[in-house]
Amino acid sequence: MTQPHTPLASPPRDLSARAAGTPPRLRVAVVGGSVTGATTALLLLHAGFPVTLYEAAPAAAPRGGGLIGLEHPALDVLDRLGISQDEIVAHPSETVLEVTLRYRQPIHIARHLYPGRNTTWSLLHYALIRRLPAGVLQTGRRVTGLTEHDGRPHLEFADHSHAVADLVVFADGRTSTGRRLLDPGRRLRYAGYVAHRGHAAGALSHVRDFLRLEPGPGCQYNVAPVPGGLDWTLYLTCSADDYTRCFGAPPQRRTFALPHHVSDTARAVVDTRAALVLPLPHAETVHTTTMRMAAPVMDIDPPTHMAWPVGRGWAVLIGDALAPVRPHTGRGANNGIEQAAALTTALTQHQRWGADLPTALDGWQRRQIPGAIAAVRQGPHLGAHLSNHQP
Ligand SMILES: Cc1cc2nc3c(=O)[nH]c(=O)nc-3n(C[C@H](O)[C@H](O)[C@H](O)COP(=O)(O)OP(=O)(O)OC[C@H]3O[C@@H](n4cnc5c(N)ncnc54)[C@H](O)[C@@H]3O)c2cc1C
Repeated sequence: MTQPHTPLASPPRDLSARAAGTPPRLRVAVVGGSVTGATTALLLLHAGFPVTLYEAAPAAAPRGGGLIGLEHPALDVLDRLGISQDEIVAHPSETVLEVTLRYRQPIHIARHLYPGRNTTWSLLHYALIRRLPAGVLQTGRRVTGLTEHDGRPHLEFADHSHAVADLVVFADGRTSTGRRLLDPGRRLRYAGYVAHRGHAAGALSHVRDFLRLEPGPGCQYNVAPVPGGLDWTLYLTCSADDYTRCFGAPPQRRTFALPHHVSDTARAVVDTRAALVLPLPHAETVHTTTMRMAAPVMDIDPPTHMAWPVGRGWAVLIGDALAPVRPHTGRGANNGIEQAAALTTALTQHQRWGADLPTALDGWQRRQIPGAIAAVRQGPHLGAHLSNHQP
């Protein structure tokens, strides 16, 4: 008989204080089929867990995601999934050139090496998704609620369907429904500037390394080669009202502006600023780019929990759902992948060797939270010259 749904309990201060009582085989629901969710699903499947991956978008198609730098720990996780760098790294440079400009001319050049490699969201996402066995990924399934039902987490979907699991992994990104339900006090705050992005087909084909231009306060330009051209990001200060005018909705609502959201006004603002501050070839690259996107830079309070009990089961936050971080940290995707690998380790210890599940999850969150907090705190320092808000 169907029992009434009860709302989520508040998180306990100490997860290990909760009674164990886990079912013999954990059934896992992963919410969000982007980088973090797809990595989590694959790792858990490899470890022998039954997994379903729910993605809100109607198809797991690329949505114009650009350059992503992955550090060695994340690359190693992908290696273990059989995803070789040949598949996801088109330009295997480790070099980062940082150029300070004055009046559009270089006045200082610094070179260092990145402890990782650059890929793109599209390459990485495709490599992950194509490895999922048929039936694991369910697209067009937007999760709207989480309750307890017969002692287990019960997911509700926008189409009024539902699903039951023992563990729900919310990997549903910056505007996470999981975070809203589990940790409602932590809200996104607009940091006062925007990462305008573009894919310039066939442009500046001699560019091989990651290049950062620093034209002065309120502006930064990054560019790197990607398959078929260049990926550039121009960070520009922008009021919330101007963001709304450019992209049709406020930054808290439109946390990722897709190509069809980029208005002529937004294009003109970016082109004009690029022409003022960038050396001519880069300003031309920006000007001739048709494929454009934007992401408002957001902050959030550091997390204190990653796992919450739901009846006898659990729900966890991971990746951007846990803690979106400023892009300059280069840690968003890295954090998600590392947290997914560590979660798989904890769950495997429970499943294979009988480790107490609350203790295993508590250990996981205690090891992972410091990294997420550090990245959340680092962002405002790295972006201080771009934002009107002081860290
Ligand atoms: C300009 C820029 C540069 C960056 N550079 C780097 C870098 O160099 N290195 C790095 O590590 N990171 C970088 N990042 C950050 C990185 O892109 C993100 O941290 C990462 O993509 C987050 O992945 P995710 O899977 O956690 O979340 P997302 O990619 O946001 O995915 C969330 C998924 O959940 C789905 N979803 C949302 N709500 C629901 C729901 N209710 N039900 C079901 N599904 C849902 C969404 O459709 C989406 O597919 C950069 C970001 C930007 C903007």
